[in-house]
Amino acid sequence: PCKSKRLHAVLLPYPAKGHSIPLLHLAMRLHSMGVVVTFANTYNHLSEEDLRSCDGLDSAVRVVRLGVPSPEWVGLESLPYSEHVEELVPEAERLVEELFTRHEDAPPACIISDMFLGCFRAVANKFNIPRYVLFTSPAGGLATMLHMPELIKQGRLPIDHTKREELVRDIPGVPPTRLADLPEPMQDPHKPFYTFYARNCEQMHEATGVLINTYYELEPTYIDTLRETTYNINGDGSGHRLSILPVGPLLPEAYLATSENDSAPGNVDARDPCLQWLDSQPDCSVLYVSFGSLATLSVEQIHELAAGLEASGERFLMTIRPPENPENAPLFPEGFVERTQKVGFVWMSWAPQLKVLSHSAVSGFVTHCGWNSTLESLCRGVTMLAWPIQAEQAMNARFIVDDVKAGIEVCRVTDGIVSRERVAKAVKVWVAEQTSLKRNARRLQRLAMAAVNDKHGSVQRNLLDFVAEVQHGKESLEQVNGSR
Ligand code: UDP
Repeated sequence: PCKSKRLHAVLLPYPAKGHSIPLLHLAMRLHSMGVVVTFANTYNHLSEEDLRSCDGLDSAVRVVRLGVPSPEWVGLESLPYSEHVEELVPEAERLVEELFTRHEDAPPACIISDMFLGCFRAVANKFNIPRYVLFTSPAGGLATMLHMPELIKQGRLPIDHTKREELVRDIPGVPPTRLADLPEPMQDPHKPFYTFYARNCEQMHEATGVLINTYYELEPTYIDTLRETTYNINGDGSGHRLSILPVGPLLPEAYLATSENDSAPGNVDARDPCLQWLDSQPDCSVLYVSFGSLATLSVEQIHELAAGLEASGERFLMTIRPPENPENAPLFPEGFVERTQKVGFVWMSWAPQLKVLSHSAVSGFVTHCGWNSTLESLCRGVTMLAWPIQAEQAMNARFIVDDVKAGIEVCRVTDGIVSRERVAKAVKVWVAEQTSLKRNARRLQRLAMAAVNDKHGSVQRNLLDFVAEVQHGKESLEQVNGSR
């Protein structure tokens, strides 16, 4: 193989939008630093449109397809993959092997695989190249995930349901957390995701380093603690530390480069129905409601949400993923759409979320607290009404409400159906606290922009450190190979 001076990284995303999108943006950042990037469309799950949504990707990054193990999975957004990801390992091996033997290109100097693709450590080991992980949740979530093997060893996981309120106090750097608020996949051993998740928690410990979609200034205490913690998962005293590199927020540059008062990116594409509707609304008047790319609400819950929004008197843009509705019941309370015609807009499809959050009409975000949504909201200075549903969203909600105080709580994961009264009351609390919430969100927005854009910003430094570390590893490996 040739010995190109340029580094080459192979990026392997987990096939869910909240995981693939930030990895695409990382690909673009690495490209701008002179790294050659191969991005594997692991399940061919990213559409042409997804890929195009990342400006300039075509010319910057080579996208390859690893193959689709089963045709009926095409277009599915998540879960079935978790049971089958390991089937992709031989495909990834073939890809990396091919890249090693191509002469016109640099062989890969590292793999960056998603936090749920620990199985690719086999490929990295086989070719003796470092494997980095992209962690697409916050640093607090990483601290928790790294501690899971210990909680399993102690017999505290899976959760004994009579102990859901019990506090876990020994996760390094993380405040006491209810067992019920730990990542939901870790709670029920009968769900297929349990074993998958537990295995990935362990495999994370074997990574060369962990890149996190966060920035130091957002979570300084968690990040300091992660860097200082010695993990001893084998229990034999052979402790190890992990290289921790916050490289987020992984958003398109345009949304980080603008000043906080400039809402230009949100107001450009007037053809989109959501943006068109927002254009007709007064500044800072609309609550944007979205539960991300995976979660669905029951019909009963949609009724309560809709009635609560109506009762609150606020304007709203509500995006709803169509729920399973075997009885074909009406999705909204009778007459709701007509009554709220002037103040509300319901959208049952994919919304251009970053543009929506950047629109001058938007004042707040009722969110399921997915980490990408949380970062997007903070980076556009929008305050939140936290409505966590699944995965690690309960912990993200605590972070938004208690740690950075950029939002208020609507409900907790364990609350069951959230009543209309509760929704309306949460909106009232949000209005009352808006001034201080906004101040906090704006401060974090400014810090994110500085971390990403300033010459000596923390994200710039971490990316440079990462590239230097990979470069160093590559040169050492070439020396070893050369001396054979
Ligand atoms: N998203 C979007 N339009 C939608 C729903 C979601 O653009 O209608 C994007 C959103 O901006 C974010 C991602 O999809 O980048 C969702 O990721 P998140 O981590 O918030 O939640 P998940 O979907 O993984 O639960």
